[in-house]
Amino acid sequence: MKTIYLDNNATTRIAPEVFDEMKPYLTDLYGNPSSMHTFGGELRSKIEEARAKVAALLGAEPEEIVFMSCGTESDNTALMSAVESYPQKRHIVTSRVEHPAVFNFVKHLARRGYRVTFLPVDSRGRLDMDAFLKAIDDDTAVVSIMYANNETGVIFPLEEIGEILKEKKILFHTDAVQAVGKLPINVKRLPVDMISLSGHKLHAPKGIGALYVRKGTRFYPYIIGGHQENGRRAGTENVASIIGLGKACELAGKHLEKEIAYLSKLRDKLEKNLLKNCPDVRINGDPEHRLPNTTNISFEYVEGESILLRLNEYGVCASSGSACTSGSLEPSHVLRAMGTPFTAIHGSIRFSLSRYNTETEINKVSDIMPEIIKELRELSPFGKEKIKKL
Ligand code: PLP
Repeated sequence: MKTIYLDNNATTRIAPEVFDEMKPYLTDLYGNPSSMHTFGGELRSKIEEARAKVAALLGAEPEEIVFMSCGTESDNTALMSAVESYPQKRHIVTSRVEHPAVFNFVKHLARRGYRVTFLPVDSRGRLDMDAFLKAIDDDTAVVSIMYANNETGVIFPLEEIGEILKEKKILFHTDAVQAVGKLPINVKRLPVDMISLSGHKLHAPKGIGALYVRKGTRFYPYIIGGHQENGRRAGTENVASIIGLGKACELAGKHLEKEIAYLSKLRDKLEKNLLKNCPDVRINGDPEHRLPNTTNISFEYVEGESILLRLNEYGVCASSGSACTSGSLEPSHVLRAMGTPFTAIHGSIRFSLSRYNTETEINKVSDIMPEIIKELRELSPFGKEKIKKL
């Protein structure tokens, strides 16, 4: 059975072009770029080439890019750097719908005495801008708002937020792990000081990420040791993966516009088919400001995990916001923050597409879903009629 992979916000396939570019550095060219000898030292220029490619995707300068081990490290580093750089400031502003890489890290800082404001969102997942304006003050060390939400795909108004913060001279970080490679980003127009990204969300390998740090931004390293990355991130460089990330960014930049059109067309088709053929279905998240590849759909009165198990039997991979499938005891904090009814949270499914998905796959999923939903609703303890009787 052929896998239909619609879980690309979880991770993506390594692009063949990326793998080809990495291969020599996983086999024959295994030197350490810090070495004096040519065998290792020559790799330095390959790292710099990759840095320039990552920078180009963001409209940045190469020296503004720091390679990290993943998106999580990049998020943690940005936040830690902000609070270390402004020790007199004790307040952090973020949103209620951040990825745990930010959400749990600021909770950790709260336990160490920082005051944290978690900004609410509305039922479409849009940030409460009034709450944002009320929250920021002279004590705010950093504001961290994600570029696009990993569960719903909702895109946040970073330009508007950034302009306000620039005026008030407050550091602004964005977790753009789900946005880089899916949306055009240009730091010349985007007033953000730090941007986190992760390789495995854009067809590079897992275990590589980067942090953009705008020139002139105070920076304090989180991983301390050797002199690598200009003293901004210690540890021997993951040469092959850095090269892979560079290639992935180059590919993303080259095909961005075409891919946005392709993915949104497939995503919209899937949504349209499911809305038409399954009753009691709702789309979660602002339909106007969303990533082109993501749809989060609630099939009310049925459990997300049962849907995933049935889809799995057909070789279809997706994910759910219900508790059992999210690896935590709590259902999706994102959908809860949006005030999504519990029957809808439990039956929520995220389909996230990539350039490797085809229309045939979308047609297949559109065909099997109504069957699956109908069958599960008859069996489910959350069935509509049963819920009504409760
Ligand atoms: N931020 C967001 C929005 C994500 O979706 C993810 C991964 O799912 C991360 C951060 C963490 O990235 P990584 O898996 O590279 O640590």
